[in-house]
Amino acid sequence: MSKVMSSNLGYPRIGENREWKKVLEQYWSHKVDAESFEKQMENIRLEHVKKQRDQGVDLIPLGDFSLYDHVLDTAVMFGVVPERFDYQGGKVPLDTYFDIARGTKDSPASEMTKWFNTNYHYIVPEFSGFAPELVENRPLAFYREAKEKLGIKGKPVIIGPFTFVKLSKGYDEKDENALVEKLVPLYAQVLKELQDEGVEWVQMDEPILCTSISKQKVERFKEIYGTLKQAAPHVKVILQTYFDRLDHYKEVTSIPVDGIGMDFIHDRGENWEALRKSGFPEDKILAAGVVDGRNIWRRNLVDAHSFVSSLADYVAKDRLIIQPASSLLHVPVTVRQEDALDKVLKKGMSFADEKLKEVALLAKALGEGVGTVEKELEESVNSIAALHESAGSTRDVLEEGSSNVRRISPYSIRRKVQPKLPLLPTTTIGSFPQTSEVRRQRMKWRKGEIGDDVYRQFIRGEIKRWIDIQEEVGLDVLVHGEFERTDMVEFFGGKLDGFQFTTFGWVQSYGSRCVKPPIIYRDVNFIKPMTVDETVYAQSLTDKPVKGMLTGPITILNWSFVREDLSRYTVANQIARSLRKEIESLEEQGIRMIQVDEPALREGLPLKKERWDEYLQAAVHSFKLATSSVQNETQIHTHMCYSDFEDIMEAISDLDADVISIETSRSHGELINIFEESTYDKGIGLGVYDIHSPRIPECEEIITHIKRSLKVLDPTQFWINPDCGLKTRGIAETISSLKVMVEAAEHVRSELLVKNE
Ligand code: GLN
Ligand code: ZN
Repeated sequence: MSKVMSSNLGYPRIGENREWKKVLEQYWSHKVDAESFEKQMENIRLEHVKKQRDQGVDLIPLGDFSLYDHVLDTAVMFGVVPERFDYQGGKVPLDTYFDIARGTKDSPASEMTKWFNTNYHYIVPEFSGFAPELVENRPLAFYREAKEKLGIKGKPVIIGPFTFVKLSKGYDEKDENALVEKLVPLYAQVLKELQDEGVEWVQMDEPILCTSISKQKVERFKEIYGTLKQAAPHVKVILQTYFDRLDHYKEVTSIPVDGIGMDFIHDRGENWEALRKSGFPEDKILAAGVVDGRNIWRRNLVDAHSFVSSLADYVAKDRLIIQPASSLLHVPVTVRQEDALDKVLKKGMSFADEKLKEVALLAKALGEGVGTVEKELEESVNSIAALHESAGSTRDVLEEGSSNVRRISPYSIRRKVQPKLPLLPTTTIGSFPQTSEVRRQRMKWRKGEIGDDVYRQFIRGEIKRWIDIQEEVGLDVLVHGEFERTDMVEFFGGKLDGFQFTTFGWVQSYGSRCVKPPIIYRDVNFIKPMTVDETVYAQSLTDKPVKGMLTGPITILNWSFVREDLSRYTVANQIARSLRKEIESLEEQGIRMIQVDEPALREGLPLKKERWDEYLQAAVHSFKLATSSVQNETQIHTHMCYSDFEDIMEAISDLDADVISIETSRSHGELINIFEESTYDKGIGLGVYDIHSPRIPECEEIITHIKRSLKVLDPTQFWINPDCGLKTRGIAETISSLKVMVEAAEHVRSELLVKNE
């Protein structure tokens, strides 16, 4: 019998009842002062540490908790503050920290981007201002806090230098190595201070080791981590990777650290294969990720136990750590409260707390023998079997071949018969502000305090109000405003067959914004029209075209927790087929423009390039399956909110949408440059102002933005729209911003017309 240790990589910040979000928003709206804010946050932080201990975790992560985002935390720890913010060096003040994330009246926020292939957004560090310097040893502070307040000696978590630099901007690619080198003494200092404090374990996250990287890069890892080892030889560093397999297994496992953390869930069996083939170094610890940190299903513990037992054939048990495959940031906190769910479903699920229990059980079974936990292991198998049985099977494969995925005519022909619009048409991305009144009415309706009719009339009232506003502002293509939707995925999940919803299953998306991903547990099917009523009503109020508004199959897939007994692509096609019916219903009712949002398409891209084609082909197929049955006259729009776009340009074009709108303003127009090289010939709108910040844009700014775009794109293909939906913005600022946008559009339009006269 030997002790096998259990560990965790990161725990959700938001709390069982989103108390984190509430405190944060209270602080932002000046309802609590800084001192009470910090105190409340400390309580939440420590509560989470205790909870992890109570689930039986031996190595508890510290410093994974954040007041906004852990990448931003790393940046401010090194004083990496963009030049445009007021900062004089030293520890970054709390309000500056939030300013970087959220922007101020005068300074736009830092860019926000998805964390690898997840729906979590991090704040992109900008190396434009101060030279990096260690201004605050955060891991040390959190270590001390847990030790002093709870007597727990945790495991500080730090984003490693290679990943940190890779995720940052504001430097030339050729200077990447130099920048890493500049950071090394700072990291060394952090580690040395941790060592002086008596810290035993440190987790250094380097998920970029799971992207497609060169052997040469791994050699650089060896050098740099060698230097760090020398600086703090007594701290045990676990080099943590996740989300895919390692490239160059042998080289990575010989990086001079004490342990390697590997994902045995999202590696498609390839980490395991490499380990079997090449063995594992005897002087290292293997931190084995064997419980999925990205999905909500219970782990088959009999399988998992037999897997970790095979690992133990290669790695001595006292050198094995059992842990989730990634941080649990990506799953909700606990299933405990989900009493409204179907019993079988609830029993088949496992969120963060339950996953930690699974980890602890596996560690125990491996260390002490199955005997003590046999019942628990078996129960997991039975629960999953019951779940799969209740899910039913699929007819999808049979239908697969029969659906046409091609529009009737190519774009060059379609465009001639589609709605006529002014040059540089203006529009929005779909949603308008969801005021507290909208949320209150919805709540009342859900509780049964108001009936369907009253609620429907209320929504119609909002639609009418905003159609009037849009007319008044002078937009060319209108939308109904999405007032009936809480969330763009949840809404459709609620109307399609095959989905279920949790009550408390929130996950952080960015800042204080949380989403509650639906659960796809059965075949997805269309029941009845989902958006026709609101869209047709909106269209009846105006002569201008109203765009119908749907969420695309890949986004619904990527932002849901998806059943594991079918391939993800099969599920995507089931969703696509349902949306196709919705689109046909809209078209039948005379709607001539339909937008199918795919904001999650890019984030689903696998970490490894070699897997991109397969993913993109499947994504394009699903999108076309949903959208291709319409007449030439019907204009299909799509929207995506990200700017790192180069990689998937071809796939975007293959979607064959008539108009696409994408974000660019937060990345300060970097995207525009790619159109110099590639020729995109369909309609395109590059978001001309940032909606993630409350700041009202200046007309000049927007004009500059438009003109810059028109250097590479033809005015006849260019659309003018904000970056994304306006749901989270206030009413007054939205109207003001849109007025500025329309004014800018008119200005450029009239210049162009004069030129052509
Ligand atoms: N139509 C959606 C909206 O405007 C799009 C949101 C998104 O891209 N994330 O809210
Ligand atoms: Zn968007």
